[in-house]
Amino acid sequence: MEKRIYNFSAGPAILPEEVLQEAQKDLFALPGVGMSILEISHRSKTYDAIHTEAKDNVKKLLGVPDDYAILFLQGGASLQFSMIALNLMPPKNKADYILTGSWSKKAIKEAKRVGTANIAASTEESEGDKKFFKRIPKQSELKLDPDASYVHFTSNNTIFGTEWNKEPEVGNVPLVCDASSDIFHKKLDLKKYGIIYAGAQKNMGPAGVTMVIMRKDLVERSQDTLHTMLSYKTHVDSDSLYNTPTTFGVYIIMLVTRWLLKLGGLDKMHEINKNKADMLYRCIDESNGFYKGHAEKESRSLMNVTFNLATPEMEKKLIDEATKAGFSGLKGHRSVGGLRASIYNAFPTKGVEDLVVFMKDFQKKNG
Ligand SMILES: *Cc1c(COP(=O)(O)O)cnc(C)c1O
Repeated sequence: MEKRIYNFSAGPAILPEEVLQEAQKDLFALPGVGMSILEISHRSKTYDAIHTEAKDNVKKLLGVPDDYAILFLQGGASLQFSMIALNLMPPKNKADYILTGSWSKKAIKEAKRVGTANIAASTEESEGDKKFFKRIPKQSELKLDPDASYVHFTSNNTIFGTEWNKEPEVGNVPLVCDASSDIFHKKLDLKKYGIIYAGAQKNMGPAGVTMVIMRKDLVERSQDTLHTMLSYKTHVDSDSLYNTPTTFGVYIIMLVTRWLLKLGGLDKMHEINKNKADMLYRCIDESNGFYKGHAEKESRSLMNVTFNLATPEMEKKLIDEATKAGFSGLKGHRSVGGLRASIYNAFPTKGVEDLVVFMKDFQKKNG
């Protein structure tokens, strides 16, 4: 078998080795079925069991209450930017958006096509012609409209490496969350959310499937004039089987959630994630300024660790040497520059330990 390297990619991202091995073992023929997951009908008993287990596992992991639906849709998190506005904004046609990064900005762009997207807070800063975000706003900074259709926020800002460590307080207005890059990284109080959604390809599965967990009463807002595929009502009523779902994607989510349960659930996962992130941030903080963390300390992400070196040349040197040493995907997003180590759930602790050794060694040679 090919040797695997350390994959720090922001997405599509690393998956648990056990999951890849099991999928590989059963790809030719599912046990007792004689056909591949890639070949079976989405109306078959076999697929039904996979779909049901995926939902059950999600329910167990996140403690999803009974009055919530768990959907597996297509079109990525990006299509949710539109679906949320189309389904939830009317009839008031106004919603609050908390702007903390590039993905929030894209969500706002779609909302504006439907109605008024009020910026309840923005942490955007600029330096020259460079615009960036490095923090999560405080509760006191939020200018919320109690009459808004919903409040939207991005729980983890994949590109800038900032993360909410507690949901914003929004009163009775439904809270909508893009959790694409930190879903399942810790336990949440789902009752606080109207909708939480995530593209699978960062922390949950392959590209092509998006999970949406929504309070069922919100479906009443979906108007009959909406296109069938764009209406949450369609997908809730048909259990995500109105058309052919991404059967393979749901199968991998089933395996990943099974892996999380076997590991001990999301509290255990959170403990592991905190430990991994702490190691890396400590290496940055104890480098006497050789490495500079991008995000403000209280806003640091456990999933995407962003940092800079003194010059772009030095950053390039580190990335080149790291790549040769088997650390892939450390280059920061083009809009931020610098470096980004994405250390999602499936990223092994050993890989972070090895990166820290590598970084200390690089500092010794170049500091
Ligand atoms: C990657 C990402 C998206 C975009 O996801 P797609 O599935 O490619 O549409 C949206 N939001 C966040 C926070 C992301 O990290």
